[in-house]
Amino acid sequence: MNVTIRTKLTALYFVVLVASFSVFVWISDVGFRRSIEVTVNDASSRNLRSLQRLLERSAPQGDAKAQEDLAYLASWWPNGAVFGVADANHNWIFRSPLFLQAASPLPDAGDTPTFFTTNLNYVQYRIASQKIRTDGHTYEIRAAVPTEPFDRALDNFRDIEMETVPLLVVVASLLGYWLSGRSLASVKRIIETAERIGVDNLSQRLEVPRARDELRRLTEALNAMLERIDTSFNRITQFTADASHDLRTPVTIIRTVAEVTLRKPRTNKQYTEALAKILRTSEETTSLLENLLTLARADAGAMGMELHLIDLDSHVRKAQERAILLAGNKSLDISLRAPGGPVWVRADSVAMDRLLLILLDNAIKYTPDGGFCEIELLPADREIQILIRDSGIGIPEQELSLIFERSYRTNRARSRESGGAGLGLAIARWITEMHGGTIVVESQLGAGSLFRVSLPAQQGAGIHSTDAAPVAAII
Ligand code: ADP
Repeated sequence: MNVTIRTKLTALYFVVLVASFSVFVWISDVGFRRSIEVTVNDASSRNLRSLQRLLERSAPQGDAKAQEDLAYLASWWPNGAVFGVADANHNWIFRSPLFLQAASPLPDAGDTPTFFTTNLNYVQYRIASQKIRTDGHTYEIRAAVPTEPFDRALDNFRDIEMETVPLLVVVASLLGYWLSGRSLASVKRIIETAERIGVDNLSQRLEVPRARDELRRLTEALNAMLERIDTSFNRITQFTADASHDLRTPVTIIRTVAEVTLRKPRTNKQYTEALAKILRTSEETTSLLENLLTLARADAGAMGMELHLIDLDSHVRKAQERAILLAGNKSLDISLRAPGGPVWVRADSVAMDRLLLILLDNAIKYTPDGGFCEIELLPADREIQILIRDSGIGIPEQELSLIFERSYRTNRARSRESGGAGLGLAIARWITEMHGGTIVVESQLGAGSLFRVSLPAQQGAGIHSTDAAPVAAII
């Protein structure tokens, strides 16, 4: 069963209200009774003192005089006298008419006033008793105050509580229900909008509430998450579209070349040319597929790096040789500046070769005939830098930050035959980052580009040392 937050809040509110009002009712009841007791005790103590003063005046003239004065006092006693005076042997000297026999035997009086509640003639009284000594006589005096008016006040108070408290609880709970409904209205709106958002309208955002509260933060966080999902989704969609386009092109070329060649008998030279073209194109396709696979594996986190201490110097030398082969007939000056001794770095040997090849392949692709391409290895204490410099077509400034994105190709590269699928630099950046390094580019349109790869130096491995790689360094 689905219980809404609104219902839960109201139920909680109701329970808290009932508990608080119960405590309040209990405290006020105890307080009321306590205050009644104090008031009644005060009243009966005052009466005791009146009797005491009278006896102190009359006793010296004998019990008869005392009786006479007590009767006189009883006739003036407001609301009817309820008192009695006994001698030391518990014989009544005077008893007002209303002071009948108590329902239970009256306890002995002490030297200080003592109080108890009893029934006199079916009416509840609070009786104060005290023993007094005057002029050699001992008296036990007792004065009673009816508690009935106070009890009635207490009953009235309880009646009012019983009528108002449940009403207050109900009204306050309804108010709580309404208030929680109001504050949760924006949650309802968020749910409704979120339910509508799908792949077709990922650009839609949740309405941000005006109040600066947790709901606003939640909506902003969800919107930021949607933004990230939207961007990734668009990138993946674009990537998939580009990848399928890039794959379709070479497959179409292969098929067309084969179909055209097979249409009629050809000379051996023509067959060789056709097969060479097919081979070239399938090699390009294989490399594209490899790149796509690398990125897919990188995304899935399934492509681990095997880091060993490797000598970067020998890797850049090998890369220069491969670049010269890659340039083929292109007239490019491909040079190397390296320390000439081992430069140790903890890296994946295959990945390092790939990184160098991507950067050199680009430098060759985007540098026209007669230009140069330079590889520089700069070892330092904290980081080792590999610089790949070319005098090629350059990259527009506004595109410098975009070229590392997947499938991104500058317009100039797109219009060139030599342009690839725009995956190389994305892979280069991924490889660099997997080694804890960074890759940046500086470029000037028409003047050339410089790619700078910085890798953390292997502390204590003897940078630029001529020692052989320590065997124990292999992980
Ligand atoms: P591609 O396979 O298209 O070369 P990359 O990811 O390697 O893909 O490069 C992305 C884009 O960056 C290229 O399309 C090109 O526009 C630009 N670029 C990369 N290297 C260079 C360079 N050395 N000179 C000029 N432009 C470059």
